[in-house]
Amino acid sequence: MAGDPTKRLGTRYGRTIRRKLAKIEIKQKASYVCPSCRKKAVKRLAVGIWQCKKCNKKFAGKAYEL
Ligand SMILES: [Zn+2]
Repeated sequence: MAGDPTKRLGTRYGRTIRRKLAKIEIKQKASYVCPSCRKKAVKRLAVGIWQCKKCNKKFAGKAYEL
């Protein structure tokens, strides 16, 4: 995932959604505990898809949090 997602969206979205996205971005950057290996290494791959960097398992989750 390259770049700043708020920047990528450009000016199509207003201030309110930008504020929402800023919150979401914090969640996206956070690591989550893997349900499989218990390491805090799960990162968001795409909307609703998460992958553990330790055991490489993929999980389906909510759009912005596991
Ligand atoms: Zn794992």
